[in-house]
Amino acid sequence: MFELVLGPSPRDLRTLLCLGAHCDDIEIGCGGTVLQLAEHYPELRVHWVVLSSSPERAAEARRSAERFLQRVRNPEVVIKEFRNSFFPFVGAQIKEFFEDLKRQVTPDLVLTHTRHDLHQDHRLTCELTRNTFRDNLILEYEIPKYDGDLGAPNTFVPLSPEHYNGKIETLLECFPSQRDKHWFTRETFLALMRLRGMESNAASGYAEGFYSHKAVLAPARAAD
Ligand SMILES: [Zn+2]
Repeated sequence: MFELVLGPSPRDLRTLLCLGAHCDDIEIGCGGTVLQLAEHYPELRVHWVVLSSSPERAAEARRSAERFLQRVRNPEVVIKEFRNSFFPFVGAQIKEFFEDLKRQVTPDLVLTHTRHDLHQDHRLTCELTRNTFRDNLILEYEIPKYDGDLGAPNTFVPLSPEHYNGKIETLLECFPSQRDKHWFTRETFLALMRLRGMESNAASGYAEGFYSHKAVLAPARAAD
């Protein structure tokens, strides 16, 4: 398997943009990867954007983002209130928000939903990400759900026990409003990461999977 090792230079990844339609999506989809990147790149700037919320869920999301980004200096956490489950019908407002975001941040890496996600809010978030950030590396994360839309990701981030356990513990602690959902359990999160760990031969046995539709492999830049 070809393994792309992120370089030791903090120059390689400076700005990360995480996008989630709902309050716990970023954490479920790529929380372990965010923890790992924040540890590997101490100078990393992170923009963490959640597109829909209620006051209760926004408070949970802020607390969770704080935990996931505790190694990041001055993270930018934005929590919007676009109408949950209605994204395709308020698409113009969300598109305008993305246009504003583009003016504020030039990310080296964008983590977002995947295009074939069966939740309409997730799908629109992915489409607008790809419309907006056209010259940036985008990795699309997966969210397990009742509808059953998991596929075969082609990009993997192996996770250390500290990071996959940290992700699950924070999710379970910070989102009490989700505890009555039958799928919001340690087993669900662990099972998916275990499968992705098996597929990527991760040393710890656990990984997060992503879809990359376009990637450019370039020689290292000279330090400037
Ligand atoms: Zn969601």
